[in-house]
Amino acid sequence: MSVPFFRPLIGDNEIEAAVAVLRSGWLTTGHKCQEFERAFSAFLGEGVEAVAVNSATAGLHLAAEACGVRAGDEVLVPTLTFTATAGAFHQMGAEPILVDVDPKTLTIDLNDAERKMTPRCKAIVPVHFGGWPCDMDAIVAFAHRHGLRVIEDAAHALPAARDGRLVGAGPSDACVFSFYANKTITTGEGGMLVTRDSEIAGRARMMRSHGFDRDAFDRFKRVGAAWRYDIIAAGYKYNLTDLAAAIGLEQLKRVFEFQEARQRIAEHYTSALAGLPIELPAPAPSNGLHAWHLYPIRVRPEARFGRDELIKRLNQAEIGVSVHYLPLHMTSYWRARPGAVGDFPVASRHFEQSVTLPLFPGMSLDEANQVIEVVKTLG
Ligand SMILES: *Cc1c(COP(=O)(O)O)cnc(C)c1O
Repeated sequence: MSVPFFRPLIGDNEIEAAVAVLRSGWLTTGHKCQEFERAFSAFLGEGVEAVAVNSATAGLHLAAEACGVRAGDEVLVPTLTFTATAGAFHQMGAEPILVDVDPKTLTIDLNDAERKMTPRCKAIVPVHFGGWPCDMDAIVAFAHRHGLRVIEDAAHALPAARDGRLVGAGPSDACVFSFYANKTITTGEGGMLVTRDSEIAGRARMMRSHGFDRDAFDRFKRVGAAWRYDIIAAGYKYNLTDLAAAIGLEQLKRVFEFQEARQRIAEHYTSALAGLPIELPAPAPSNGLHAWHLYPIRVRPEARFGRDELIKRLNQAEIGVSVHYLPLHMTSYWRARPGAVGDFPVASRHFEQSVTLPLFPGMSLDEANQVIEVVKTLG
């Protein structure tokens, strides 16, 4: 590949931090995890609690459980998302009700959510698509009107902000970030559940580690700790290792540096691709910060050739591209579920016409120009 779709940026500090944990004698959830959680809540601000988990999928599952979503309940989920957004709820017997998205921002369309609401709906799960911060005030108002919980899928949205408030610091019940290898910061695999509700935080923390009444670190490490423990629920195994947390601590220090680097490439794409027969991604809302996890473009019908041909040409030029996403209502499993009712014209059209261009913090302008050169042949 002359330009990969993604390349993580791991520095010497991340490597040294990981080695220090390997030499420390304590590998799993411990001091580093607590430090990572403290740094993450400090990053989001006063009153936000952070619970480190081994994936965002796990975090969404814990959030659902802690918010009281149960088997037989329904949750409103945008169809244009990664399968885990729906899967985390389905796993506990709840039914994801698929909702179309807004054509500009690709985030959940509240008018369609209103149409698809049923009395069994318990929660709405907005996805900050590509790093574009959703209008959480509107979503929370919608949720309050219908008695719903709000669980944000913020896998793309670190750091994104709106009206001076970071995603994760807002008024939802819970918000979940991903540190998967190609996300905006990474620990290889990992995630963070954040909430302002200490009951949700406490429940998630306990369910993260088998339903123990206190965590393993406490049991083994604290001098004089009582050896007795109790199991107070049938919990899961969703804790983050100290090895991952140590890498995450170093990555978190660079979160704005990474965002600036991504934004620089995104702005370069946007100015270089203006005037072509394509639709460009929505810019950040005014007074907002876009995390620029993804840069999806849509090929308009009047272009010289279509989306498939563009992907072929980019691949021939050894440029890595992707498509985000095959909407859930177009996948074999989800389209056969009762939650895939009605039409999803916006998500379907987006899928047919879209290509996600490479965008990562270590990308050079020269690499971006190689991509631009191929995309320009559309016009
Ligand atoms: C990556 C991703 C997830 C899952 O994250 P993991 O940490 O891999 O579990 C969930 N939702 C969206 C929108 C994602 O992009």
